[in-house]
Amino acid sequence: MKIIMLGAPGAGKGTQAKMIADKYSIPHISTGDIFRANIKNGTELGKKAKEYMDKGLLVPDELTVDLVIDRVAQDDCANGYVLDGFPRTIPQAESLDKALTERNEKIDYAINVEVPDENIINRMSGRRACLSCGATYHIVHIPTKVEGICDRCGAELVLRDDDKPETVKNRLDVYHDQTQPLIEYYSNKGALVEVDGTKEMSEVFADIVNILGA
Ligand code: AMP
Repeated sequence: MKIIMLGAPGAGKGTQAKMIADKYSIPHISTGDIFRANIKNGTELGKKAKEYMDKGLLVPDELTVDLVIDRVAQDDCANGYVLDGFPRTIPQAESLDKALTERNEKIDYAINVEVPDENIINRMSGRRACLSCGATYHIVHIPTKVEGICDRCGAELVLRDDDKPETVKNRLDVYHDQTQPLIEYYSNKGALVEVDGTKEMSEVFADIVNILGA
């Protein structure tokens, strides 16, 4: 099962993607996580990506597309995967389609997690991330056992630079301009499904499982 998660930044698609990956035993591939791991490890890719990420801009396609296309060709992706944060532009989607078509493959579901803009800004200011192990939380919706400390690895949590209010505004503008057109793109391909992302996290997941099958 090859799945793409669509939705505004902060719509909860990362959380749902992880739950889908667990339930269906397929890899969760998040371009944001890949870039953040590169930043943490001080790689050349990380240095270049950070310049864009800190401003709420998209990392250029030439740094992004090959990375994902190589990743989905690996053995652990044979039974499918859930892509989270990719594609984010029509050219990215076209490059992915081209690579998949060459292997007689296609995206089965593009799941759009719908949340209105006004909810997004509130949600993102409450997000907290562990830069050590990559876990993400929310001060209201997904609280940690001990405030400010990662449940999984015990490191201190932070508000990511790209979740700060001024950056969120930019990210939403970029989303509407460059990523939202993907909804029509996947609708035209018959792959689009939509879920109401304003519901509780577990209800959203139940709706997704209903669509994908148990
Ligand atoms: P995310 O964790 O998916 O919200 O991504 C965080 C940031 O990484 C985004 O705001 C972009 O700067 C960058 N990024 C992630 N995925 C992509 C992509 N497919 N294309 C371009 N930039 C991306």
